[in-house]
Amino acid sequence: MSDRTIHIEQYYTALPHIEKRFDKYARQKALRADSYEEYIEWRTSAREELSNILGMDKMETSPLDPNVSERVVLDDGIIREKVIIQVEPDVYMPVYILIPKSDSTDRLKCIICPHGHSGAGKYSVAGRRDIPAVRDKIEFFNYDYGMQLAKKGYVTLCPDCRGFGERRELALQSDEEKDFINSTCFQLAHMAEPLGMSVIGMCVWDLMRLTDYIIMRDEWATDNIACVGFSGGGMQTLYFAALDERVKAAVISGYMYGVKESLLERNGNCSCNYVRGLWEAFDMGDIGAMIAPRPVLIQSARDDHLNGRCGIINAIEQVDIMRKAYTVTHSDDKLIHKIIEGGHHYDSDIDELLRLI
Ligand SMILES: [Zn+2]
Repeated sequence: MSDRTIHIEQYYTALPHIEKRFDKYARQKALRADSYEEYIEWRTSAREELSNILGMDKMETSPLDPNVSERVVLDDGIIREKVIIQVEPDVYMPVYILIPKSDSTDRLKCIICPHGHSGAGKYSVAGRRDIPAVRDKIEFFNYDYGMQLAKKGYVTLCPDCRGFGERRELALQSDEEKDFINSTCFQLAHMAEPLGMSVIGMCVWDLMRLTDYIIMRDEWATDNIACVGFSGGGMQTLYFAALDERVKAAVISGYMYGVKESLLERNGNCSCNYVRGLWEAFDMGDIGAMIAPRPVLIQSARDDHLNGRCGIINAIEQVDIMRKAYTVTHSDDKLIHKIIEGGHHYDSDIDELLRLI
């Protein structure tokens, strides 16, 4: 014990009260539908509610002004472009686009691949194994799904989410490994929330703008755009697919669990997960339910610490909420829940979903 403090025998915390409050007030806009028509009616109002909560109405549009700043041919014939697009006035998003070699006359399919935390943004997802700090993260989380999917013949678009990689705010703008790998979500949340915005809302907006760019570029197929994301990338995929019908299929890996155990009790998670008023309206399964009847694959790792106190059950319960939406829309076969063994990581086997796009 320190000789500069005293020992506290009993702590008086707010958690028990807040948990009771959660039980009393959470999920006021939960999925309620016993028929296809009721589901569509619920989804329409739920999307509007979710957009408002995320502050989507505060986002400002702008010309995309795309600029291809790099074009590299990699060993396996994949072209890696770095394109910078303007997502809001004076807000720019660098994106790696991995374009596989193709002899086919058919347009290639596109997969948007948002990243999560602790991988230096797009560098891990796009497979920059030449950067040692990134290579370690790729190996730890199996993080390079953008590159893996490009090798399977998809055009993959791997953006830097706000606060990551080349988009870090001042606080972490250094080349030190811990700064390079990490993100300024905390600073972004502080800037956004008092203005009625949210980090999730900003991320979803940027992915919508990236979709605008795919359509504007008009080189690849645009009627079957998919989105694949792990961890915080799963978070982005969840909300993006829930709100934007242009996403025709989604893989949400390591981000589907009840918020009470995973974000309220585990209240040290990154600030980008927390949005004012969100839990009063929805749990995660309700948001996932907005994706129906489009194909979705949920990947849950059995020993993922983010599942919370009760473990995998906390993920299964949310998928069960989603399943109601898929049942009433007669699309049960489009919701795939894959429980994988091990801790928080991405599993490369998403073929069941890829067959549906
Ligand atoms: Zn974050």
